[in-house]
Amino acid sequence: MSPTDASQQREPRVTSVLKARNLAKAFGSNVVLRDIDIDIRRGQVVALIGPSGSGKTTVLRSLNGLEIPDAGTVTFGGTGRGPGSGPSSETSDDLSIDFGTKVGKREIAALRDRSAMVFQHYNLFPHMTVLKNIIEGPVQVQKRPKAEAIAEAERLLERVGLADKRDAYPFELSGGQQQRVGIVRALALQPQLLLFDEPTSALDPELVGDVLGVIKELAEEGWTMVIVTHELAFAQHVADEVIFMDGGVVVERGPAAEVLRAPRQERTKLFVKRLQ
Ligand code: ADP
Repeated sequence: MSPTDASQQREPRVTSVLKARNLAKAFGSNVVLRDIDIDIRRGQVVALIGPSGSGKTTVLRSLNGLEIPDAGTVTFGGTGRGPGSGPSSETSDDLSIDFGTKVGKREIAALRDRSAMVFQHYNLFPHMTVLKNIIEGPVQVQKRPKAEAIAEAERLLERVGLADKRDAYPFELSGGQQQRVGIVRALALQPQLLLFDEPTSALDPELVGDVLGVIKELAEEGWTMVIVTHELAFAQHVADEVIFMDGGVVVERGPAAEVLRAPRQERTKLFVKRLQ
């Protein structure tokens, strides 16, 4: 194949986890997203940064079907689930959703199956034990065998140092422990994409490190993820790409070191300076 042929080829389909195009969303007269494009390759870590109210959470929720954009498309590639460098036992078909047309329950369920969200306030079910919280999705939604889901949950709890909390209730755990359960709950769904919505901003400062440590390990293991975070030092450490949003638009994007250390746009410069 000549170099021209190669350059004309699209990137190999298998590496593209997500392509979002022209996402737009308004809440009443408040336009919160305008023409947002996001591309994520398998194993890539993208940090989404920007001032409060700039639309970061709405982007994340739109990718996961928790929020339905008014327009735009989201396409998940048919890559395997789980971390990029690990075994990919299952592959899925491509999934493409056009929010400009009517989006039904079935499309939303299909979209939700591709990614898993780790919430700022953990969002664990208060009346369920740690184990039950983790196996609920795999067993009830994904219809996986219960014994298999329990074994996987126990393995993941062990991994984040919480094996002994299997039968505890969320109120018996610290915020950092609850968030590690939140992360395990997301991993247990074996999604193609992990979404983190300010995962440490509700934690006491001394508990932040443990949770960031777990996220860093997942990045090293090859999980594909988007992280909304105010922890710029952490973003620089783990993210391959940083996207800076302000006022519902992407102002600047690029390699983490460039956007955080040598931003080109004035708005990015101001934001990055303020947080350092
Ligand atoms: P960020 O994550 O960057 O802080 P958000 O995506 O949470 O920003 O919010 C962007 C804007 O959308 C804000 O003005 C917020 O008030 C508004 N917004 C978010 N969710 C809703 C909602 N469910 N209903 C009405 N307005 C909302």
